[in-house]
Amino acid sequence: MQKNLFLPVTSLFSLLLFISFNAAALPEQALVPGGIALLQLQNYSPETTVLFNNQRIAVFPYKNSWIAMAGIGLSTKPGNYEFSIKHSDGLTVNTKVTVKYKQYQEQHLTIKNKRKVNPNPQDTERIIKESIRKKKAKRQFTEKTPELDFIWPLNGRISSIFGLRRFFNEQERRPHNGLDIAAREGTPVKSTANGTVIDAGDFFFSGNMIFIDHGQGIVSLYAHLSEISVKPGDLIRQGEVIGKVGQTGRATGPHLHFAVIANQVLIDPVFMLPKDGNQFTAKSAEK
Ligand SMILES: [Zn+2]
Repeated sequence: MQKNLFLPVTSLFSLLLFISFNAAALPEQALVPGGIALLQLQNYSPETTVLFNNQRIAVFPYKNSWIAMAGIGLSTKPGNYEFSIKHSDGLTVNTKVTVKYKQYQEQHLTIKNKRKVNPNPQDTERIIKESIRKKKAKRQFTEKTPELDFIWPLNGRISSIFGLRRFFNEQERRPHNGLDIAAREGTPVKSTANGTVIDAGDFFFSGNMIFIDHGQGIVSLYAHLSEISVKPGDLIRQGEVIGKVGQTGRATGPHLHFAVIANQVLIDPVFMLPKDGNQFTAKSAEK
């Protein structure tokens, strides 16, 4: 006789625990602006949806349970925020998480091409169109279960960390929302995980840029490339070369701007990347 593999669906969400993770394949929890909140789900079924701050978030299997992962936007004020677990039978369970303050340093950069700091009206028209395109890519939500065992897109020195308050030619602009990895022009850039290309093209500030969807609102972004070797719709394997390091757009030298989006907000990629996957960061950690 065949065993029934489906467990009876229960309405019990009695045990919701915040857990600390050590396994390399999991994102690191950091309850700060630009960080990640993790929630272990009990009695999860595929019809269950989980929201954070009213935004649907990613849920993925881990060992014998399911983990919900929320990105915490850089502009998030310290305080309490809510996870909502919505079950197919209508039951909703809410649980709070406290986001703490984090100080981000200032960075002052000089850009020779002044139009990249003070765009002319024609540039502004282009920037507006591109921001709509970027928003569309950031909002991508596909049901595919994400694989979050990210790898470094290349080996290189970290030339700029996430979250820095940025001043270009002494004028304050948006904070740095990714991780800059310096490398020679032409260095191959690899996809951090399996996924599908959402968009790829030349952008005013970001230069040649690629967006890859990894499922359930997890998107990776690669900017300032000298070359793009993929197109929208392409299925990408983790580690596949998708382009080359460059300095297109607003850049002071060749580097990869690598960014990660979760539930439509940009989070610090270091919380997603393995500690030992980049020989340059591994060396500096030993010092
Ligand atoms: Zn950058």
